[in-house]
Amino acid sequence: MEQAQVTAPPLLDVVSVTKRFGGVTAISDVSLTLSEGEVLGLIGPNGAGKSTLFNLISGVQEPTSGAIRLAGQSIGGRRPDLICRAGIARTFQSASLLPGMTCWENVHVASLFCPVGKTGGIAAAERTAQALAICGLAAVAHRDVAEITTGEAKRLEIARALATRPRILMTDEAVAGLNPAETDQVLDILRAVNATGVAIIFVEHDVRAVLALVQRLVVIARGSVLAEGSPRDVARSPAVIEAYLGSRYAQAH
Ligand code: ADP
Ligand code: MG
Repeated sequence: MEQAQVTAPPLLDVVSVTKRFGGVTAISDVSLTLSEGEVLGLIGPNGAGKSTLFNLISGVQEPTSGAIRLAGQSIGGRRPDLICRAGIARTFQSASLLPGMTCWENVHVASLFCPVGKTGGIAAAERTAQALAICGLAAVAHRDVAEITTGEAKRLEIARALATRPRILMTDEAVAGLNPAETDQVLDILRAVNATGVAIIFVEHDVRAVLALVQRLVVIARGSVLAEGSPRDVARSPAVIEAYLGSRYAQAH
């Protein structure tokens, strides 16, 4: 008798997801997958639906239709704290730091959302210290978040996500507004995080940063997937060139 082949489900499986806000369809029938340990770039013009997709995956918003699965388990529409405990952490495009608290306190609060059984026997305070150290923030740990630089705030967002010990880290414009040196610092952090086995979805406009980091790209525009593949193939896609540079450029090249 032929044996049925058993393939593991993708780490993250987004299946035909749609999100409407009244008459606005922000995400329209989007499907994508993320493999264990993969670094996926998600790019697209402003208003394409990138942040909305993160909101749907992280449970901040509920899909209008479609399915979202983490390692085969349905998570679509679940509460954000439960999705975080299941292993998905994200940063926010506009900093979501807790005001009136120190960097250490900000990360410590996040560390309490670490999945039970995934603490590695490490106490929340130690997870906090580790996340701050990975993100190069040990020296400013006890500074109020109002007193840190933009670069430090961006890294603090990442530290908060890491303190939850995610399997998937989603960063929403983590290098926007940073200078090249600060950008490289963030890229080094994300590479180090990925080297420990964490899969990453990297939403970013900075093309240099995207190409320096990701293995695969998904391009969305007006809520739909336009192209998907290696950065090289995607850069040559006429649909992508048109979405970014306009149809006259696409025709001329
Ligand atoms: P991106 O992150 O790619 O710039 P967004 O996901 O922020 O795009 O937005 C996608 C579209 O959805 C935009 O047209 C935006 O105006 C709309 N949108 C996003 N959030 C809401 C909301 N809460 N209510 C109504 N429209 C929204
Ligand atoms: Mg956005």
